[in-house]
Amino acid sequence: MNGESTLPQRYAALLARIESACLASDRAVDSVRLLAVSKTFDASAVLSVARLGQTAFGESYLQEALVKIDACLASGADIAFEWHFIGPIQSNKTRPIAERFDWVQSVDREKIARRLAEQRPAGLEPLQVCLQVNVSGETSKSGCTPEEALPLARIIATLPTLRLRGVMAIPAPEDDPARQREQFSRVRSIYTDLQAAGFDLDTLSIGMSDDLESAIAQGSTMVRVGSALFGRRPPNPIAP
Ligand SMILES: *Cc1c(COP(=O)(O)O)cnc(C)c1O
Repeated sequence: MNGESTLPQRYAALLARIESACLASDRAVDSVRLLAVSKTFDASAVLSVARLGQTAFGESYLQEALVKIDACLASGADIAFEWHFIGPIQSNKTRPIAERFDWVQSVDREKIARRLAEQRPAGLEPLQVCLQVNVSGETSKSGCTPEEALPLARIIATLPTLRLRGVMAIPAPEDDPARQREQFSRVRSIYTDLQAAGFDLDTLSIGMSDDLESAIAQGSTMVRVGSALFGRRPPNPIAP
């Protein structure tokens, strides 16, 4: 990525990458959504991207996200923001997530699902959720195991204030393209197995700045992109 490029140039380049990846896999260019991952970048960066037409933003650090959501609202910009929580969830932090976000992609255990469901305010749409699955084994701690996905999906289906949309994963980075493909394809199997079990899902959330082409080739319907859009993040991100 060229550090001299502007945000509008990077946004256009990113949309072009997504479009070429769709065409390369004989997929419709509108079959993949972009989630702009704005963690560590401030509300003015979010508003700049929003003015280019982007409405879905992903955040991983709760306190930082709440400040940013408030600032975006206070800006008075006439933008229908869609906020996605994509970070690890501590069970004592579920209430503001349930109250302020539209989506939560990092649901990986029953306790979190039940708390989010209980705390979702009655007047709001159901919280749109993805199960986070861990297909890389011990190396990353977030995400349920592949075996836990179906029982967890069945629990979520009983909670009317949650709506299960799909599966999210952050496979361990792989230099070997074949191994990377294999990890994405394992996530896709979990997704299609859930569909085969009767769940009405439309979101396979895989692919980030460095691997979105490979994820789209493996069926991704939502890529979560931070650094390729906003620029490089500080090495020590703000604590959760
Ligand atoms: C930070 C983050 C991303 C974006 O990563 P980039 O490599 O900067 O595109 C995507 N998904 C999750 C869950 C993240 O935490």
